Amino acid sequence: MSAVLSEMSHPSSEALINNVVLKADNIAKVFDVSPPWLNRIIERKGKSLLRAVDGVSFEIQRGETLALVGESGCGKSTVARLLVGLYDSSQGNIYFEGQNIQVLKTPAGRRLRQKMQMIFQDPYASLNPRWRVLDIIAEPIREHKLLPEDKIADRVAELLQQVGLNPADGSKYPHQFSGGQRQRLSIARALATQAEFLVCDEPTSALDVSVQAQVLNLMKDLQRQFGLTYLFISHNLQVVHHVADRVGVMYLGKLVELAPKKELFAHPRHPYTRMLLDAIPDLEMTGRARTPVAGEVPNPLNPPSGCSFHPRCPHATERCKKEIPEARLYKGTTLVACHAVEEARL
Ligand code: SF4
Repeated sequence: MSAVLSEMSHPSSEALINNVVLKADNIAKVFDVSPPWLNRIIERKGKSLLRAVDGVSFEIQRGETLALVGESGCGKSTVARLLVGLYDSSQGNIYFEGQNIQVLKTPAGRRLRQKMQMIFQDPYASLNPRWRVLDIIAEPIREHKLLPEDKIADRVAELLQQVGLNPADGSKYPHQFSGGQRQRLSIARALATQAEFLVCDEPTSALDVSVQAQVLNLMKDLQRQFGLTYLFISHNLQVVHHVADRVGVMYLGKLVELAPKKELFAHPRHPYTRMLLDAIPDLEMTGRARTPVAGEVPNPLNPPSGCSFHPRCPHATERCKKEIPEARLYKGTTLVACHAVEEARL
């Protein structure tokens, strides 16, 4: 380990096994999507409210990758933004290393902000095109006053090397890099603050398939090296299969299944999880007949009653139309919110 890195070393992954880094406790996010002109003439109860995230709870252990999957509009990216404080939650609490992330907004939250970083889908949009790479990666180091000015260039060169780029690339501009290289730059900038927890929102979905694999492998290598913890948002179950330790499946703002990856792919329980997996053509099935993907996601402004998946579900009953299923634990590891699973029909 170089001199610069040892001054800023990450915690060892071995020493930190089995502790909760992040806890989301019954979080929700409601957006007022009424047109502005309507706000002036109607009472609050008449507004159009979108429950993008609706009572979601989970924990992430240090060093693990929890993936959130689901169709577009299911709320997974909103969860990502809630976790890093880009949105305020409308309900519930989020704790990072035991501290409520409300503290992120106070001066005392500086150290916490430094430990949590986000990687976005479009690296180009998140890299200032007028800045040299040296200044882009140095910005968070300067903001958090992590190193004296005369050591920053060495640290940036080291970070570039860690993400598989040339240490001399600091003098270039973002447009001189390919899409995959730009995502490597985003990762280098996230690591610049000694981040321990990275929220990755579709980090490879804008990249070619061959480049995707390289970036995902880099992320796994860095995770092993620095004991990083990831929340990984993706609509691509094959990508999730490659990176995740556990997988959460979201539908219309709710977490409908949460399970270890192997268990979820081998024995999906929730009918929506089954539907998502059945849509992957070359996935090995476990003796289960495929269910074709049926219907479309309902309008989230007017979600169906009871279980919001019931209009698309081949196992729906009258109970499903009236009663919202509660998440229950199965085999000690798998959470599922489904009446049919609870009634042992599935
Ligand atoms: Fe289908 Fe009912 Fe389960 Fe919802 S609760 S997924 S409608 S069986």
